[in-house]
Amino acid sequence: MNQNIRTHNLGFPRIGAKRELKHSIESFWSGKIGEAQLLDTAKAVRIVNWSTQRAAGIDLIPSNDFSLYDHVLDTCALTGAVPERFHWSGGNVDLKTYFAMARGLANGDATCQGCGTQHATTALEMTKWFDTNYHYLVPEFHPCQKFRLSSTKPFDEWNEAKALGIETKPVLLGPVSFLLLGKMGEGSRMNPLSLLSDVLPVYAQALERLAELGVSWVQLDEPALALDLNAGQRAAYEQAYRELRNAAPKLKIMLATYFGDLRENLDAACRLPVDALHIDVVRSPGQLESVFNALPKELLLSLGVVDGRNIWKTNYAAALALLRRASEKIGADRLLVAPSCSLLHAPLSLKHERKLDPEPKQWLAFAEEKLVEVVELAGLLDGSAPAAALEANQAVMKKRRGSYRIHSHAVKTRCSEVKPEDYRRASPFIRRRELQQTRLKLPAFPTTTIGSFPQTAAVRTARAQFKKGGMSAAEYERFLETETNTAVQKQDRLGLDVLVHGEFERNDMVEYFGEQLAGFAFTENGWVQSYGSRCVKPPILYGDVERSRPMTVRWSKFAQSLTEKPVKGMLTGPITILQWSFVRDDQPRSETAKQLALAIRDEVRDLETAGLAVIQIDEPALREGLPLRRGDWGDYLHWAVDAFRLATSGVRDETQIHTHMCYCEFNNILQSIAAMDADVISIEASRSKMELLEAFAEFRYPNDIGPGVWDIHSPRVPSSEEMFELIRAAAKVIPRERLWVNPDCGLKTRRWEEVELALANLVTAAHEARNDQKTGEKRPILPAQKPLRHPKS
Ligand code: GLN
Ligand code: ZN
Repeated sequence: MNQNIRTHNLGFPRIGAKRELKHSIESFWSGKIGEAQLLDTAKAVRIVNWSTQRAAGIDLIPSNDFSLYDHVLDTCALTGAVPERFHWSGGNVDLKTYFAMARGLANGDATCQGCGTQHATTALEMTKWFDTNYHYLVPEFHPCQKFRLSSTKPFDEWNEAKALGIETKPVLLGPVSFLLLGKMGEGSRMNPLSLLSDVLPVYAQALERLAELGVSWVQLDEPALALDLNAGQRAAYEQAYRELRNAAPKLKIMLATYFGDLRENLDAACRLPVDALHIDVVRSPGQLESVFNALPKELLLSLGVVDGRNIWKTNYAAALALLRRASEKIGADRLLVAPSCSLLHAPLSLKHERKLDPEPKQWLAFAEEKLVEVVELAGLLDGSAPAAALEANQAVMKKRRGSYRIHSHAVKTRCSEVKPEDYRRASPFIRRRELQQTRLKLPAFPTTTIGSFPQTAAVRTARAQFKKGGMSAAEYERFLETETNTAVQKQDRLGLDVLVHGEFERNDMVEYFGEQLAGFAFTENGWVQSYGSRCVKPPILYGDVERSRPMTVRWSKFAQSLTEKPVKGMLTGPITILQWSFVRDDQPRSETAKQLALAIRDEVRDLETAGLAVIQIDEPALREGLPLRRGDWGDYLHWAVDAFRLATSGVRDETQIHTHMCYCEFNNILQSIAAMDADVISIEASRSKMELLEAFAEFRYPNDIGPGVWDIHSPRVPSSEEMFELIRAAAKVIPRERLWVNPDCGLKTRRWEEVELALANLVTAAHEARNDQKTGEKRPILPAQKPLRHPKS
């Protein structure tokens, strides 16, 4: 029987099976290959992608979902939104300008395409794409911004696929989301959305061109519809889509929303003159009934039932229930089956995994396998697929549910027995501080670093050798001991107050822990794009998390044995492990966070027992876990902060707990940061020149803070005067007794030469601050402005 329920896909991974696009782009940047060769690789990736999707039986296959760097940057190129500093001379945006926007130009680097001279230019800012781990380049507009169609990419790619006999569905980032994701260049307070009337003609022109080519469906992505919008922003949608409709009356428009439900934006979305609406029912199955009620009769509905951003097989029974309900309500002929969002966020294919733990492997579906699921689900819905497909799927689901690999009785019992006092340190901070001070005897403005020291070529080579078997375990241990020893000696000589072991044994701050915990699996090739040519390979957290033995004690203890100074134990926090992994979908994330917290708690305790007086638990991903809707923040923050507290509250008052976060936006979450109750927090602050501290001061953040005084993202070594000025600025708003002196983040990407110079300057700056009584006055320590929230008991 022929399947008559249509399927489509929203986007496909674009890095290639062997990350060939990444390698090709990087070779192009370093001048090893030319433009033609890069474009050939890109074309080959697209051809494989389209053919794969066709072979899987997808009806509407996307085009223009491909990108050489980022699809938001592509939209800037399409609309000619190139900031003036790139000296773009008009015409189509060329590759050099495109990559200059992505990466900036260093002095003496490449020649500016526009003005023909060599000058330094900063790249567009980069930030996270909604709540995923993908990063996009932030469009930067000018108050007199002129938009102009400046790229033929969508048309070229459509033609390219057409030549293969595939009539694709071009994908464009919709105009309202595009503007909402952007910002105005420095000095302008204008709202980017006020540029809507200016950008719409370019979109209109693009749609007209697509219609002329013979395109029948186009997908306009408007993920901003899953955000909190105000009335003006909702009205912008009406204006935009009315105009686009008029420009291309015959083109069928699919409005794609994902990453959350539409809530109060639903009516506005349903009023738009489009032909189909795509909704994400993996994230928000609950919105389905309200969508039926709001959806006009002439609209098709695309249901995203296959999770586009996680790696689990779809439970067909649950997905079919949603699809059947929709088919009853609106009719099968108005229904399309799809992944929840672009498959960009999933690894490419399971067929490249030869070493993956075979049991969890059966439970997984990467991008290619997800295509099969979409087609199979459509077939099961209209009866064209054999019932055996459903049975096979349900058999896997049953096995997964019952697997002893997922369920640890001990972990579940322990989780259920956690008591309210397990979330609390024995004494309040003020008391702990005294006891810690007596024990540690630190000077004012104590100096420390964030954990890692340079991961030199030697360190990486040794690790690779060891993994390949070219170096024995004993040799590798000796090697790490030597590196650690050198790092400790150097810190001692530099005169730092709290030392670290250097993290030479760690490949990655999440993987290192995942590898030692039960419940994690690792892929060989499960790469996903993080930004541009950068890819990450997140661990798969599939089962109950359990720590069977200490994970870091050996190295912390070793480092402590080499010095009289206190060494800081170094751990990754539960929320960061959660955020940077593919996480099981069969229990709430909060429950998984709790299990991780208990594992870290045991490690913290073991470090304490081993004699470490200071322990840092990094939570750089805490903020990025925030839900898209403000109304959902409270719940997340509650369990996230609880997880941190659970991980850190098992120690004696004398043990000093640090945390670290490498960002500077703490607005609106300061109360939760304070509720974490870490004795010391280190944060990124140097680039914002300590400005962010005002919020901490105003809030009267109660515990110690180490605002970064060295921007470690840059190879520039700051002088001691510069760092002293930053400390001074910090001491203007935070009592001097509360301040620590440290870099913005870990030093693994820096070279030892830079590190030694910068740290010497940092220590000098701290000494100057100590001697300079004017650097901050002694002030009484005031209690926090708002009471700290204590966990539910
Ligand atoms: N301790 C880690 C390091 O120093 C922290 C990294 C991070 O914050 N991203 O590398
Ligand atoms: Zn950091």
